Amino acid sequence: MKKIEDIINLMIRRGFVFQSYEIYSGLKGFYDFGHLGVLLKNNIKNLWLKFILKEDNIFLLETPIITKSEVFKASGHLENFYDLLVECKSCHNRFRYDVYLKGDYGKVKKNNEKFFCPLCNGELTEPKKFNLMFKTYVGPTEESSTQAFLRPETAQGIFVNFDNYTKIYRTKLPFGIAQIGKAFRNEITPKNFIFRIKEFEQMELEYFIDPNDKIDWLSYWLDKSMNWYINILGFKKDNLIIYEQPQKELAHYSKKTLDVYYKFPFGEDEIQGIANRGDYDLNSHLKFSGKDLRYFNDKTKQKVIPYVIEPSWGVERILLALICDAYDEDEINNEKRIVLRLSPNVAPIKIAVFPLLSNKEGLINKAKEVFDHLKEYYLEIIYDENGSIGKRYRRQDEIGTPFCLTIDFQSLEDNTFTIRNRDTLQQERVHFNELLNYFKEKIKKF
Ligand SMILES: [Zn+2]
Repeated sequence: MKKIEDIINLMIRRGFVFQSYEIYSGLKGFYDFGHLGVLLKNNIKNLWLKFILKEDNIFLLETPIITKSEVFKASGHLENFYDLLVECKSCHNRFRYDVYLKGDYGKVKKNNEKFFCPLCNGELTEPKKFNLMFKTYVGPTEESSTQAFLRPETAQGIFVNFDNYTKIYRTKLPFGIAQIGKAFRNEITPKNFIFRIKEFEQMELEYFIDPNDKIDWLSYWLDKSMNWYINILGFKKDNLIIYEQPQKELAHYSKKTLDVYYKFPFGEDEIQGIANRGDYDLNSHLKFSGKDLRYFNDKTKQKVIPYVIEPSWGVERILLALICDAYDEDEINNEKRIVLRLSPNVAPIKIAVFPLLSNKEGLINKAKEVFDHLKEYYLEIIYDENGSIGKRYRRQDEIGTPFCLTIDFQSLEDNTFTIRNRDTLQQERVHFNELLNYFKEKIKKF
């Protein structure tokens, strides 16, 4: 059984992730991504861009994080995007009401319709709405007219641009607008490391369809997503679960939502949602802005408000799931080895280059020559001459590097090198002139 503590320990020890503001005792729900974390994140995002841009009629967009209040008034977030909280009248700790009722803070204590604090037994207040959006002000005065919000989803920036895409890009249904960007939610109980955090990155696609379209686009995007997880990111199929949200759990905008869950060591949880938002958003923005956001279908000569299918992927959640999926422990020569069996597509470092010994100038010079040559083609490459070869292999195994190339004495004679495979542990000898072909074959670009 994999333990989340071991995985978190590895991610911190190897510099994928750091607690934000650690030297000031940290800030709960915020994390920094180190060099390897950023490389891994970028691979996920780039592979996602390739995946969706291969589809027909997908367009990109980037909109501001700070969002005008009117947008969230129209979208319903000001009114509906909240958690119910109860506060202890004695110790003033606050608890999410639904989590409290589930017993996740400890035993539920109830007497005469009153609930009591799981920490100090003080009386709890009635549940109060707590909006999850971060508030800010645009301009020099802090008043309601200058109030704005950090977006809790990137989607609204897409909806308010709908008209631009049909007019300027002359898009025809069905078409999609995609955005990668930060979103913010003032979660009361951030938890499970980078799984539930307050500042996170989303990859969202709003896929606009004719309301009379009979194709099941929800299933279409689910199938495409599953293919991406398994065949491109390298997830084990058995660790992914499809979950249909029951009616009562649906977000205020959704008619139907399918989620992709990953079997994390701490339990199954969501890494992607695919919601049928119907015409909820465009309709609301049409009403609130007074702009005609209807779409003219030139085949049927009718104006319609398109429906929206929204697949929404969480970057940090996918990153954590990938590392959980890849994490493995085995034994080499009776010694325990920790290894991340990441697909070469996503591995933050693809190739490590070592001189066999660090005190032989000939080996070092040759190693640097090979390193410089490969770096012209692969930026995700590392040079390491510290410690024994065994120790260097272990370090690369722990960060998921699929290939380690070693320059030895034979290399100086015949210009060949050993390449060691992380998973099979097999070593092959490859000539300098064959290196690029070798890696091109193993590290597929698609
Ligand atoms: Zn209390």
